[in-house]
Amino acid sequence: QTDTPVVTRFAPSPTGFLHIGGARTALFNWLFARGRGGRFLLRIEDTDRARSTQEATDAILSGLVWLGLDWDGEAVSQAARAARHAEVAHEMLAAGTAYKCFASQEEIAAAREAAQAEGRSSLFRSPWRDADPADHPDAPFVIRMRAPQDGETVIEDAVQGRVTIRNDQIDDMVVLRSDGSPTYMLAVVVDDHDMGVTHVIRGDDHLNNAARQSLVYRAMGWAQPVWAHIPLIHGEDGKKLSKRHGALGVEEYRDMGYPAPAIRNYLARLGWSHGDDEVFDDSQARDWFDLGGIGRAPARLDFKKLAH
Ligand code: GLU
Repeated sequence: QTDTPVVTRFAPSPTGFLHIGGARTALFNWLFARGRGGRFLLRIEDTDRARSTQEATDAILSGLVWLGLDWDGEAVSQAARAARHAEVAHEMLAAGTAYKCFASQEEIAAAREAAQAEGRSSLFRSPWRDADPADHPDAPFVIRMRAPQDGETVIEDAVQGRVTIRNDQIDDMVVLRSDGSPTYMLAVVVDDHDMGVTHVIRGDDHLNNAARQSLVYRAMGWAQPVWAHIPLIHGEDGKKLSKRHGALGVEEYRDMGYPAPAIRNYLARLGWSHGDDEVFDDSQARDWFDLGGIGRAPARLDFKKLAH
């Protein structure tokens, strides 16, 4: 990895403001890239048309600007890349790493129920996985990735260590819907690959996705990025962060009068440490930041530390 220039990205879904957790993810990606003379990219994951709004996109961009987290190039809209995602799904189909599935929602539900009743895994195993294309009906279909059914998928994570997932827990996920639209899981991989992302640093709520995403990389013969799944932020009571804990949008901190560098310094130390150093300036944060300093336990939000 040493001679490849670092490329990181922040990939928020524009369904709400930039909250403290998202801001920290963006900051870690920014510090990592900037400290290594690399690039930091921004991708707006607006594939979910029903939940994505322009207001949320604007709020995220202005939150990043206020924090001083500048990104390289234009912000990429994931929705605008749907044709490219479909192209990759069809390449997988042609290569046999994916297949057409004609099962209806009712058939899928019935197969799951039957499996459950027999005490088998309720993962859907499509009867179309091994069907002869000559037997394909002239009907709507989805494209499913052909996932391995035996063995294990291993993720070497820079924060979590080696994570092993049994392949019989991974289903043949849909990569292209019957209306030709890509699933989120496919879109992320295609975009990260096309954008040249070398390090995927994001919340550990995406760790399970990484296993399935790594199978897409493998199916396409693409090099995997370095994965770094960072523990989520918890409130002082140890529970997952919510508004109740004062987890506000970053702009609300701005409106309360906090200077951006104070928030940035606070966020940098939330889940990342550099020896016993409590306070450091921006250039030190950039020089010192590394994935090995990210803790495995959830970071705790403590506003008393922010206040002084
Ligand atoms: N769009 C996802 C989110 O906002 C992030 C996906 C990713 O970083 O791979 O949670």
